[in-house]
Amino acid sequence: MSVISLKEPEVAIREVRLGSITGFEGTAGELVQCARTGKLQDNARQFSQCMGCSSGNAFCQLSMIQDAVVVNHAPVGCAGDVFGFNFVYRVGQMERNLPPVIGRYFNTNIEEQDTIFGATQKLEDTIREAYTRVKPKAIFITTSCASGIIGDDVEGVANALTEELGIPVVACFCEGFKSKIWTTGFDSAYHAIVRKIVKPPLKKSNKVNIINFWGSHIFDDLLKPLGYEPDYIVPFSTVGQLERISEAVATIQVCPTLGSYLGAALEQVYGVPEIKAPPAYGLRGTDNWLRELGRVLDREDQIETLINKEHARVLPLLGDYRKQLEGKTAYITAGAAHGHALIALLRELGMTVQGAAIFHHDPLYDNGDTASDALAHAVNTYGDIANYNVCNKQAYELVNILNRVRPDIMIARHGGMTLWGAKLGIPTLLIGDEHFSFGYQGLLNYAERILETLDNKEFVTNLAKHSTMPYTKWWLEQNPFHFLGRNVHVEVY
Ligand code: SF4
Repeated sequence: MSVISLKEPEVAIREVRLGSITGFEGTAGELVQCARTGKLQDNARQFSQCMGCSSGNAFCQLSMIQDAVVVNHAPVGCAGDVFGFNFVYRVGQMERNLPPVIGRYFNTNIEEQDTIFGATQKLEDTIREAYTRVKPKAIFITTSCASGIIGDDVEGVANALTEELGIPVVACFCEGFKSKIWTTGFDSAYHAIVRKIVKPPLKKSNKVNIINFWGSHIFDDLLKPLGYEPDYIVPFSTVGQLERISEAVATIQVCPTLGSYLGAALEQVYGVPEIKAPPAYGLRGTDNWLRELGRVLDREDQIETLINKEHARVLPLLGDYRKQLEGKTAYITAGAAHGHALIALLRELGMTVQGAAIFHHDPLYDNGDTASDALAHAVNTYGDIANYNVCNKQAYELVNILNRVRPDIMIARHGGMTLWGAKLGIPTLLIGDEHFSFGYQGLLNYAERILETLDNKEFVTNLAKHSTMPYTKWWLEQNPFHFLGRNVHVEVY
């Protein structure tokens, strides 16, 4: 279990804090076994194409707080992803009937001479300008490789401006170069929130924190009949709302890869219990998760009634879907916990999971509880998964593997990965809303979308005919793990 210290301005990166890795090939069962026995080792790649950045992940959580501002203390290029979040923010506002506002994002434009003379003056000026223009309730400063390397005293500026402006000005340390695991950026954002925004509880509320991206509000129908109110955090929350999350009765993780740190911090610092069962994907996963929720919320009888009712509704429909999907094969590429959830879900639908390229692996989450291990749950419930690759979005590995596996469908979690399936003529499904597949209804939703995608194979067949592949025959004939640490001989496809 990682020990949360709010005295430290920075949270340690996942490699150090949790022992997380980005390079592995083998079976999912082997990975779980290595993690349990302390034998997990990262296999470094000799060649790397691209990666995400912690700063972007911190931004994705902080940028949609309705009355806060984000100042990105960085060269302007680091803010290149801002427009994408602005788009998600506007769409989310429409879905939630919120007033249309553009994101309040600023960048300090660190230039070459600033890397010699320092850029704290620019940072102070930008914060004052942001405050004058927007009058936010809080300002978050996200750091960058440049600000980290030159050693700007960002914490000092944040503390001085907090006093001057009378609102929390909070440093969020998320320099991209520090970690190969970009989800470290989520931890940085949450550390900033718990350290400087969340207040000690005055009373217990009837709220349940839902740590999520910006998914649909599916928890309303579950929690309200139980007498509880969902509090969707962090995107689309307000600073005032975040101040009170310490008063909640429980915390739900939609994806522990996302909320590992925040869930553990709220439990350790303020005693808010975290639902530690793996998220509710697949029939058995949903049963387990609901029972754990019922136990924590003291609603066990109501939950048993709900499980029985839902089984009666869903099982006959599920049987039909299983018949249609029997024998179909799938390959998954996704972030860790959501990837594990998708494995469980596809197995539940009777499909064969031929393998997965999962962006990183946390041997345990911050709560240190093996009960939260979603991959172990998938392996123990549905059997081992061959060709399990931990791969931080290295497209060259993915393309090589896909070309060998040739599944009936590829399931992707991130938009940038779907084109590779299409180029190879493999139907590819991308679902941005991770709540779409949550719970019993999620199984039916997903089955329907898979069938629709498989029905439309001709679309990708035509795309493949008219597209080119940047990878040569030489590479496609190599062992896909040629550059992964050691040269492993693979004959599993
Ligand atoms: S913080 Fe570093 S890794 Fe992230 S976008 Fe900027 S330069 Fe790139």
